[in-house]
Amino acid sequence: MKTLKRFVLVGAPASGKGTQARFLAEKYQLETLSTGALLRHEIETGTELGRAAAAYIAKAMLVPDEVVNEIVRNWVSAHAAAAWLLDGYPRTLAQAEALESNLAELGLPLDVVVWLDVSHGLIQARMLRRRECASCGCITRNGEDTCPNCGGAMYIRSDDNLEAFARRWKDYERLTEPVARYFHAKGQAVRIPVVEEKEPEEVFLLTRHALEQFAEND
Ligand code: AMP
Repeated sequence: MKTLKRFVLVGAPASGKGTQARFLAEKYQLETLSTGALLRHEIETGTELGRAAAAYIAKAMLVPDEVVNEIVRNWVSAHAAAAWLLDGYPRTLAQAEALESNLAELGLPLDVVVWLDVSHGLIQARMLRRRECASCGCITRNGEDTCPNCGGAMYIRSDDNLEAFARRWKDYERLTEPVARYFHAKGQAVRIPVVEEKEPEEVFLLTRHALEQFAEND
């Protein structure tokens, strides 16, 4: 039975990646790097990196590969001894190649890619109801004004609107789904298909079962 230590989580925008990342991190004791959350933080704090990324994020475009590759490379080197999860990276085949060569340099294997394969219709409906807490980062899916976790104010992400969503979905299909298929074809991914609305806990249960089987069969 294989011990799972290094995870990648791939999924479309608003597929529930952030929530599943939290569940996975808790269950498998993982440190998480969310490239999206990190870039948003850099923008809020006005760093050079934030300034470089802001225009892309505002237009719902992917930030250039070189920028994110550099962030992840540094983070992975600094966390070489840790068990970790990358949430939202790699998002292009070029990023997948960069990750594989960085890991090879460090002598670290990538243990598993979790592919959250949620249907387009489901995601679009969800995205319109998604809110994020300004204080604790908690994500909700019913258009709440107040955070159920800490009472903080909830906000709508600037990229959560129909026009931006259409662009992000196109990028997902064209650029990111091939990443999931690439790892799946190599036997390194578990695919979690979601075609009807499910509670996040239920999706996580399916994921846990799939991961247990994956670890056993290895
Ligand atoms: P997310 O929170 O993962 O949906 O990411 C929000 C935004 O950050 C994306 O729409 C991109 O503009 C940018 N971003 C996050 N991760 C990446 C990545 N791996 N490659 C390029 N852009 C990214």
